[in-house]
Amino acid sequence: MRIVCIGAAPTSLGAAYRLNELIGERNKEAATTEIIILEKESIAGGLSGTVEKDGFCWDLGVHITYHEGQPYYEKAVRWAVEEWNQVTRNAMVDINYLYGEKGLHLVPYPAQFAVPLFPQKEKESCLRELKDRYERIQDSNKAPPANFSEWVDDQFGPTILRAFFEPYTRKVWSVEAKQMNHVWVGLRVAKLPQEKLEELCALDPEQIKNVDFGWGGNAKFCYPKKGGMGSVWKSMAAKLPNEWFRYNSKVVNVDHVAKTVIYENEVGERREEAYDVLLSTGPIDQLIRDTKLTTPINVACNKVIVVGVGLRKPIPPTLANFTWLYFPDETVPFFRLNIHSSFGDVTPDNDKYWSIMCESSRAIDDTCSEEEIRERVLEGLVRKSIIVMENVVSLWSITLPYGYPIPTIERDAELTRAHSELEKHSIFSRGRFGGWKYEVSNQDHCFIQGKEIVDRALFGVQEKMYKTGIIDSKQG
Ligand SMILES: Cc1cc2nc3c(=O)[nH]c(=O)nc-3n(C[C@H](O)[C@H](O)[C@H](O)COP(=O)(O)OP(=O)(O)OC[C@H]3O[C@@H](n4cnc5c(N)ncnc54)[C@H](O)[C@@H]3O)c2cc1C
Repeated sequence: MRIVCIGAAPTSLGAAYRLNELIGERNKEAATTEIIILEKESIAGGLSGTVEKDGFCWDLGVHITYHEGQPYYEKAVRWAVEEWNQVTRNAMVDINYLYGEKGLHLVPYPAQFAVPLFPQKEKESCLRELKDRYERIQDSNKAPPANFSEWVDDQFGPTILRAFFEPYTRKVWSVEAKQMNHVWVGLRVAKLPQEKLEELCALDPEQIKNVDFGWGGNAKFCYPKKGGMGSVWKSMAAKLPNEWFRYNSKVVNVDHVAKTVIYENEVGERREEAYDVLLSTGPIDQLIRDTKLTTPINVACNKVIVVGVGLRKPIPPTLANFTWLYFPDETVPFFRLNIHSSFGDVTPDNDKYWSIMCESSRAIDDTCSEEEIRERVLEGLVRKSIIVMENVVSLWSITLPYGYPIPTIERDAELTRAHSELEKHSIFSRGRFGGWKYEVSNQDHCFIQGKEIVDRALFGVQEKMYKTGIIDSKQG
């Protein structure tokens, strides 16, 4: 069997790692399987890569990972990189706009836990609405929420929807909450137990300053000690058989009848690779456009502009303990600010420097340039007293044309339509934009999707991580 992969990032590396493992175990099917990975860039990693400038390492947006409960993924990434930091997450939200303030007004994240710290009027409404929701009797005949906005209203109430979820959704996703479905939410939006919330709301402002809110304290994540997140994928690719990888090889079309992939190599020559199974990890909208296997697919994404600022120490005391901050505030372009140097060795010298990374989202057709956003990021950081320009020693930015795959209302039906056609021709589109499902689009999810494609191709094992929605005997 011949497996061809488009893209050398976590999804395809999951497939390659699995095949390598099976070959090591002298598995019969694996011994007769070939894999070829075509990557248009000169390096592995994709969106999980790391760029270096002036001795500062920049991931393409905040990239953290969790090993807990994922033994297969953990074994693989520890094989790639031995030294990891365990970082305790300490995230805050700036709710300055609720107080009409220009600077930072930080409360712990998630915002629905921080209701006791909201201004009095919002606090009272939120509490009343949450109480109603805790105490209501579930009506099993009630129609499910039609979108994310209705879901938040149903779970938390209209005040917190207006105070936090609507402005923050606009900032991260570049769409309104009512344009998104709610199936992606899962465990991502936590709920504070009623007794705890009432107990906190009853405290006076002085008492509340010293309170342990009881969340997040033990939430830890993993990050490579050196070289940024990209070092994991770069190192994994380097440890796998070299002959499996073709860099500087851009796939320009797929001939599903002849079962060949057509690509341009580093000197612009056209080449072909025959496949039995094609794992495509580039964006599915492009794959459908190129193969014309069905009419264009109606899926949406936004773009993300990442700005990295390398700074001379000291770190302002207000920021020293935080890993990142969220900004629903519309007066700054970024939705998240990450104290990047709190993760690992990502500066030229951690005794002298620190670094912050700001992520801003924009609609795909937004005309604001990267330079303009960079300027606005710096202006916002100065205005909020996060940096002083004299301490900036390095500036870096990048625009990711595919940033977040938006869970729109019509997404799942459209993806099922596309997968139904693709899979008839042994084309499996998986990964962040190959699969286009935000809820399974992190590095660990994508890595496992690649592994599961190999298990499906070689042994007929049903995939668990990615659900195409195709109803047949093999996959539900
Ligand atoms: C802003 C942001 C923040 C994120 N934060 C986190 C996080 O905190 N934790 C986490 O686990 N994940 C995070 N992710 C997700 C993470 O980046 C993805 O899970 C991961 O990179 C997906 O891997 P992939 O294999 O699906 O493909 P991608 O990373 O999308 O890479 C696709 C690869 O295919 C190549 N390619 C595309 N088209 C072609 C072609 N025609 N020919 C040849 N090669 C091609 C590309 O060059 C690229 O290398 C974040 C992503 C973003 C954008």
